Amino acid sequence: MEKKANISSERISKKLWSNKAVYSITPFTLLDYPDRAACIVWFAGCNMRCSYCYNPNIVLGKGKLDFESILKFLKSRIGLLDGVVLSGGECTIHKNIIPFIEEIKAMGFIVKIDTNGSKPTILKKLIDQKLIDYAALDFKSLPTNFESITQSDLFAEFEESLTLLTNSSIPFEVRTTLHSALISRIDFLKMIDYLENQNYEGRYYVQHFMNNVPTLGELGHSDKSLQPENCSTSKIKVIFRE
Ligand code: SF4
Repeated sequence: MEKKANISSERISKKLWSNKAVYSITPFTLLDYPDRAACIVWFAGCNMRCSYCYNPNIVLGKGKLDFESILKFLKSRIGLLDGVVLSGGECTIHKNIIPFIEEIKAMGFIVKIDTNGSKPTILKKLIDQKLIDYAALDFKSLPTNFESITQSDLFAEFEESLTLLTNSSIPFEVRTTLHSALISRIDFLKMIDYLENQNYEGRYYVQHFMNNVPTLGELGHSDKSLQPENCSTSKIKVIFRE
């Protein structure tokens, strides 16, 4: 992989340099980018308010790090890391995310985004300009309970993002958090049907809500008896992830 040593600062406006969009960095992970050593850039803020969100500080908090400091950090990791995971919060809501990723790609890193799918216009640009190498797309629920789960009316945008990724050559995964008070077994089976009808084929990662951890909203105990790994179809492999 060719790695450029210098950040092309001319391409970055002053505004971009000083944009404090990032809450924090996890400097090293072997878990978040499939089969790669990566760091995680946690973007502050989100346009959803999922009650089960495990990152209330990041979603509600303000960014503390500007893009310049992130790019400097990444420059120091050239040759040590393969990839950069852009997570949050929601990375695609941030102005200048595209030139920021252009700089990351120019350093030779591969890029994964974690997204709730609410910004298909940005996602299309990232796909068309070959700026992302992997995506993890949250599938919150079907329209019937999407608004109550996310406190947003962004299902149509999510669906557009799913279509964009399905029609692209970008490897991606779909993932859902299950809380028994929010998504029943019948709901969940309908979600698998929906994915099939949307021509999604591949892995569908499911994680049970973790009881007794701080979350954005107040949720009661979740019954984990639903066994999503038994719900796979010929096209969709449902994988339970701890
Ligand atoms: S879980 Fe919901 S609120 Fe939390 S970051 Fe993801 S989309 Fe935003």
